Amino acid sequence: MENILNAVQSASSIAIAGHVRPDGDCVGSCLALYNYLTKYVNYDWNKVIDLYLEPVPETFTFLKNADKITSEYDTNMIYDLFLSLDCSSPDRLGGALPIFERARKTICVDHHISNTRFAGTNLVVPDASSTCEVLYTLLEEEKIDTAIAECLYLGIIHDTGVFKHSNTSRQTMEIAGRLIEKGVNTSQIIDETFYQKTYLQNQILGRCLLESIMVLDGRVIVSCVSRKIQDFYGVVPSDLDGVIDQLRITKGVEAAILIREEETQSYKVSMRSNGILNVSKIAVYFGGGGHVKAAGCNMKGSLHDVINNLLEHMANQLEAAGRSV
Ligand code: AMP
Ligand code: MN
Ligand code: MN
Repeated sequence: MENILNAVQSASSIAIAGHVRPDGDCVGSCLALYNYLTKYVNYDWNKVIDLYLEPVPETFTFLKNADKITSEYDTNMIYDLFLSLDCSSPDRLGGALPIFERARKTICVDHHISNTRFAGTNLVVPDASSTCEVLYTLLEEEKIDTAIAECLYLGIIHDTGVFKHSNTSRQTMEIAGRLIEKGVNTSQIIDETFYQKTYLQNQILGRCLLESIMVLDGRVIVSCVSRKIQDFYGVVPSDLDGVIDQLRITKGVEAAILIREEETQSYKVSMRSNGILNVSKIAVYFGGGGHVKAAGCNMKGSLHDVINNLLEHMANQLEAAGRSV
């Protein structure tokens, strides 16, 4: 922590970035830190502080300074300090990777068990619900204003599924409680960023559920979304947020798999476990990462092979756990 504060104080240019296809925790942690640094460390604007992220979902744009986020990566700039948030490996930085590679000092704050400790200084807390939870512990409590609290709260509710996933600890709830004291409009943030769905998002959810199949003796549920279907409904990847959670709560399943076709023979795989299966292990095996109960990877090949390869690992893990399939 000392390290991080010293680095921030002594840097005259700072880049903040998170992972590709930013989710609530990624946007929340990046903006919380950006708002904190611009307000307290850079009150006289003598530092350059830039926040790089791929375009963020529309529902997050109410957060303070969301309009300062840029997707135009200045790869010529050499920053004194690069702060990576909610990102488990350098390739996940996307367009910000060249900026990371050129920076004089790099710090990574994260909570992914699969984190590769790729920065100069790494603060990785796999037991934390979210990067926002880790970041909260680094900030001075009295300096957290309502706008910063909103960012942190948003990140926590998105990574915990509104406090329902098993990563929700006593500390998570205590931090959320302190954030509520800062004046966060909790029900509005929960409804408008987490539960509310557009008509098309509901349609694609319905389609995914309708076309899902139960495999491995009902222990695993799989659903696939082709390019054609995504184009038909006119949806972008973030429109599928929540689909995998609905699959996971299917009675009897140990795991859910959602496969989204990105290009011909190229798929984004999301996996969720209800406890017995370690999906991070499987995701890491296929070049991805994540958490024990929520992980993802990108896979190439025929859809048939992708599903077979994933199921082989799941079947092996189930057998090792004494649940023969
Ligand atoms: P998702 O299924 O995309 O919601 O991701 C679940 C978790 O796995 C998140 O914590 C992601 O950061 C992580 N994850 C997803 N895809 C990848 C990937 N291709 N590489 C590394 N981590 C991933
Ligand atoms: Mn994330
Ligand atoms: Mn996260």
